[in-house]
Amino acid sequence: MTILDGKLVASVTRQNIKKEVEEIKAMGLEKPVGLAVILVGEDPASQVYVRNKMKGCEEVGIKSFMCGLPADSTFEQVADTIKSLNENPEVSGIILQLPLPKHLDENPLLDLIDPAKDVDGCHYVQKGRLWTGRESLIACTPFGIMRILEHYGIELEGKNAVVVGRSNLVGKPLAQLLLDKNATVTICHSRTKNLGEITRRADIVCVAIGKAKFLKADMVKDGAVVVDVGMDRDENGKLCGDVDFAEVAPKCSFITPVPGGVGPMTVTMLLQNTVRAYKQQNNL
Ligand code: NAP
Repeated sequence: MTILDGKLVASVTRQNIKKEVEEIKAMGLEKPVGLAVILVGEDPASQVYVRNKMKGCEEVGIKSFMCGLPADSTFEQVADTIKSLNENPEVSGIILQLPLPKHLDENPLLDLIDPAKDVDGCHYVQKGRLWTGRESLIACTPFGIMRILEHYGIELEGKNAVVVGRSNLVGKPLAQLLLDKNATVTICHSRTKNLGEITRRADIVCVAIGKAKFLKADMVKDGAVVVDVGMDRDENGKLCGDVDFAEVAPKCSFITPVPGGVGPMTVTMLLQNTVRAYKQQNNL
């Protein structure tokens, strides 16, 4: 069994991103590669995520813009911030940190982000591009999972892949990316019947449901590749994934741990998307 080391892949990927940013800077173009993060309110978990994004930018040489708004901001105030960032030539990518305070409806706000700057891959234009096989800005977590599988040379063509979870952020785009690599893909969700029977047939099982240690050893076949997207807490409050790692790992050929698997890739792919967006905007 091989552990799929997300920290390692993230580090290699960041070195490459740093090189790409240096090459862009060496061209002497007027506009910097820039990422703007909008944080509404003071949710502690969101503050940590935003700090990590800022640190990541610094590490690879991307200019970052932190736009903090009070928790009681109106829809119009957040909308105006997005619109001004859309117009700002120094900003190549925009992230609206989720979740938003309850009184704000996230979809109409996400829709206001210029799709060319949608480095989170959340805008329906980018999602439509992905589903129709065009070049797109891909949601960071599934993009990172594909990078891990690629790094370890895991063959996907003709394989049975099962994605458990159908969120717009993870499950759906991941299923499409696996399909693009010619896997035969099944998407499962909370209403799926006989889930264990389906996952047991899979060569690759990806779980993104937010339920601690949900995937058990009797739900995977010997030699399966298991990707754990979950970021949950176990009964002792310790960080764990959607997969019962201790039980499942011995049966796998490859498995991502939590922490240290998919997690480190998400911010890294956001940085990658920011560079990608910059290049697209500047025809590089
Ligand atoms: P989400 O939006 O809450 O979606 C959860 C999905 O899981 C839904 O499609 C739901 O089905 C399905 N589901 C829930 N219970 C299930 C069950 N018992 N059996 C089968 N399917 C079930 O979650 P998300 O945003 O995709 O996130 C999933 C997990 O990944 C969370 O733990 C989150 O923290 C983590 N995550 C990690 C990263 C990272 O960087 N590592 C990034 C994003 C998310 P229905 O559609 O039928 O309700």
